[in-house]
Amino acid sequence: MASPTVGPMGIFGGTFDPIHYGHLRTAFELLQALELAEMRFMPAGHPPHREVTVAENPQRLEMVSVAIAGQPEFTVDDREMRKAGPSFTVETLAELRHEFPRRALCLVVGMDAFLGLPKWHRWHELLELAHLVVAHRPGWRAPTTGALGEMLEEHGTDRVRELHDSAAGRIYIHAVTQLEISSTEVRNLIHAGRDPRYLMPDRVCRIIHDTGCYARKD
Ligand code: ATP
Ligand code: MG
Repeated sequence: MASPTVGPMGIFGGTFDPIHYGHLRTAFELLQALELAEMRFMPAGHPPHREVTVAENPQRLEMVSVAIAGQPEFTVDDREMRKAGPSFTVETLAELRHEFPRRALCLVVGMDAFLGLPKWHRWHELLELAHLVVAHRPGWRAPTTGALGEMLEEHGTDRVRELHDSAAGRIYIHAVTQLEISSTEVRNLIHAGRDPRYLMPDRVCRIIHDTGCYARKD
């Protein structure tokens, strides 16, 4: 059983390249709806010699840090960035489970990410380590057939309480206000010389402007 005194921790992974209001609004609505004690942003590492992210680790970490400042339940954990090799979610969750043996852990994924779950490393183990919280994204529906449909049938719940009363093992699907923003579109817009203002906090725009991390390289 989870400790009754400490509420669940949400874990929000992503490349955050850059972080935008789609991420922040989703995190905030889940924080409130699920009564989480903490929402931990977990930026994925940029593996050396591989073009997985555009901005480097320090810039992405800084953008997340300034974006979440002022919301005490929002925290950032850079453990995946500090790892040399690829970081698999299942390994990150195993580390967190080791650090927080009884705490309810809620891994947040968008519906698009959830649909790709069967491709994740050791995906069958994820629910032993954490709950899964699936945020609806525009245009996506929950599967009813196949491996994911079966998993939802077995582990799905619509009761927030169950995320508090056990440490792992449930899947909760939650509709969030749908903001059609993606990091890819934000980068394209900047690349085209346009201003990303109001798609993300001003302080994030400032970092993008000052570092030129998405500027055209030619
Ligand atoms: P990209 O365009 O590079 O894929 P992205 O905007 O999807 O970037 P990610 O860092 O890949 O951002 O996303 C991290 C997590 O946030 C994922 O689980 C993704 O599904 C979710 N997410 C991204 N954008 C939104 C949005 N606008 N609303 C809700 N969730 C989002
Ligand atoms: Mg994405």
